[in-house]
Parts: sequence; C-alpha cells; structure tokens
Amino acid sequence: MFFKDIIGQIEVKHQLIQSVKEGYIPHARLISGQEGTGALPLALAYAHYLHCTNRQENDACGVCPSCQKLNKFTHPDLHFVFPIINKKGSKDAFCDDFLPEWRKFIIETPYANLTSWLGKIAAENAQGLIYARESNEIMHKLNLKAYESDYKIMIIWLPEKMHETAANKLLKLLEEPPEKTIFLLVSEEPEKIITTIRSRAQNLFVPPIADEDLSQILIQKYNIGTEDIHLITRLANGSYEKAIHIINSTDENEAYLELFISIMRNSWKRDVLNMKAKADQFASIGRDRQKSFLAYAQRMIRENFLYQLQIPEINYMNRKEAEFAANFHPYVKEQNIIDFMDELALAERHIESNVNPRMVFFDLSMKIAVLLKK
Ligand SMILES: [Zn+2]
Repeated sequence: MFFKDIIGQIEVKHQLIQSVKEGYIPHARLISGQEGTGALPLALAYAHYLHCTNRQENDACGVCPSCQKLNKFTHPDLHFVFPIINKKGSKDAFCDDFLPEWRKFIIETPYANLTSWLGKIAAENAQGLIYARESNEIMHKLNLKAYESDYKIMIIWLPEKMHETAANKLLKLLEEPPEKTIFLLVSEEPEKIITTIRSRAQNLFVPPIADEDLSQILIQKYNIGTEDIHLITRLANGSYEKAIHIINSTDENEAYLELFISIMRNSWKRDVLNMKAKADQFASIGRDRQKSFLAYAQRMIRENFLYQLQIPEINYMNRKEAEFAANFHPYVKEQNIIDFMDELALAERHIESNVNPRMVFFDLSMKIAVLLKK
C-alpha cells in the first residue's frame, strides 16, 4: 500500500510523511477514523514508507527488496494483530492462522470493515475478537530481533476488540516498549480503548474523506451518473467502504425498506400474526444484517421526520423510500420521534448483546404499535 493509493486525506498523509523526514517516529501511534475513511490504508502506507530502504520524496520506492515484500505484506518485520474468531479447524485460533486470508483482504479491500473481514473468514455472524492468548504471541514476536529493517512494526487493527487481558499486556508493552518497535493501533472506536493505552500513543485522527475526493474515485472506478453520485456521496458520509456498500447493496436496501414498511403496517394494524411472521423473518437474517436493518430503520424514521420540512437538500432518500415517505411521514412527529429513535437504538443494543432476535423484533413491533398512535 502506497500513499499514492490513499483516497484524499492529503493533510494526514503529509503529516505522516513529514514526521518521517524529520526523524520523528513515535513508538506508538493511535490512528483513528470511522470505517472506510482510510485509517488502515494509511497505517499500511506509513509502515511501507518506514520499511522502504530507498524512500522517495513522498512515498516508498516500490522496488527495493523491502518494498517487494511489503507489496505482498510478507515483510518479516511487519506484524499484524486483528479480530478473529475463536476456532480455526479444531484448535484455538491465533491471528497468524488467518494470515493468508488477512493478506488477501488488505491487498484487495483495505478500506473494508470488520463485518466484511469476518465474512472473508466465514464468520459473518460471529463477533470478532482479539483474544487474551494473542498477547503471548505479541510478546514473543516483539522480543525477536528485527530481521531486515531498523524497526519491527506491529499493526493492531481494531484494538477496541481486544480482550481485557490482552489490552493490559499491550499497555505494559507501550509503557516499556521493546527496542526498535513501532505500534500502529488502527481504531474505529477509540473511545472504547482504555485511556491509559490511548495516552501512551501519539494520536492521529483520520477525518471522513472529502466529498470531492470520494466522488472522483467512484466516478473513476464505477460508471455512475452525476445524480446518483451526489446521493451516494452524501449517504456515504466520507466512507469509501460505505459508498461501495451502497453501490453494491441496492438489493439489500430494498429488502430493508420492505421489512421497514411491513413492521410499520403490521404495527399500525396491530396485526399480531404478521408481526410474529416478520419476527421470524428477522431472526433468520443473521446478526449483522439485523443490526444494519435497525440502523436503516433509524435513518428512515429521521428522514420521515425531516420530510415534512420539504427541504429536498436535507432529505437523503431514494425514489422508493420517498414514495413510502409521502404517505408515512405524518406518523412520525414531535410527540413520538425521540421514543422511536430510542426504541430502535435499544433494539440494536439488544441484538448486539445477543438477546433473542425474535423477541427483540416482536417487542419492537408492539412498541411501535403504541408509538404510531401517539
Ligand atoms: Zn522501497
């Protein structure tokens, strides 16, 4: 991964490159940004730049022996830690067990999020974690001498997914770092990392990708018309991953809209039989889609509330969604919008903490039945 491959983020790139040129190379950086903004690609490009033996003005050279290994992420002084699932085959899993899949993932889709990583290791419905046992592996790797480079670099993707024991051991390492070691913590939710770790690292914030930069790459890679690109960019909110997802998921979006319409209709009619049927359907789609649907429903409620203001620039709906909103929007009003949002967010948290999805959905339908008549 090179700096030239990063979408937008000129200032962050400049900051990283400049610091290396000035010889300021902190032993730990916390690079944080929402999913799809490029925190991981930036960490990869930075590691690449640091390891390159013939650094150019603004990027790694791409041809030195070090770069050749980095192109495939097989450099012996570049280590990775990332969320995994508990077992690989029949044994307890370590990150290294997933290295072939991981390398492929960051080469092909460096902007992708945890859900799509877990999908790659056939664990879409599992929670990815960095397990406590991983910390011994980390210690072991960092106690080795650097093989070929001046530094050993350890990239930890999503340290917020670390088991407490692993996090505490990492903290010890950050307090007394092994020689010539650089930690790059790449986080989407830095507020979930213990503060003692955060304060030991140099913090670097990766903002959402600027709209112009995002549209430019989307137009270049996908054949998208001006009107669509406008909507996609606005919905994507500076996330390349989200933009791609929107482009690829028209079908999924339609399924969510359909489910959203059903839950509202059944609740309005207090049609308990169909509420139950939809709860079964909801239970069958897997936890990540359940969470995505509930996030989608929150967006729809917000959009329907805004609909009555009749300001098209602040409405982010596609044609089908807008058609439904034309009739539905009077039901979302000042008296119930906050409760609506609270209930949907609560359902999302319940799904997150493994409450039975059938119960969550049915319960939600009942509550919506009351809210709609408020
Ligand atoms: Zn090089």
